[in-house]
Amino acid sequence: MHDMPKRILVVEDNADNREILIAELEFQDYQVHYAGDGQEAILRAVELLPDLILMDMSLPNIDGLEATRRIKAHPQTAHIPIVALTAHAMRDDEARFRNAGCDDYLAKPIDPEQVTETIERVLRERASGTEDA
Ligand code: MN
Repeated sequence: MHDMPKRILVVEDNADNREILIAELEFQDYQVHYAGDGQEAILRAVELLPDLILMDMSLPNIDGLEATRRIKAHPQTAHIPIVALTAHAMRDDEARFRNAGCDDYLAKPIDPEQVTETIERVLRERASGTEDA
């Protein structure tokens, strides 16, 4: 499906979740990189300039919301779509994710099929230029 493998940065501190995500995304022919905390996520985002970031919201050092804000505030990484991963997807949480700059979100437990669908949709929206101003 993909001409060039899209590069996804998976930011997740939970090893089980990380393994599920990496296995699914590699199966879908994405090139997968990962970071285990918010600080590493920011560094890896700048260094790799991935096509999309899957960002757990609950992370050590710098949490997912703050890491998202910083990535979206950095001129080199501001354009990278970020999909939040969260254990508690409540209505006010969604507003907080959006305000921090998240483009979409997925509720845990992780459903691999839903992860792939969401990533493909967000990448498609990006490619057709329908991102937020
Ligand atoms: Mn976590």
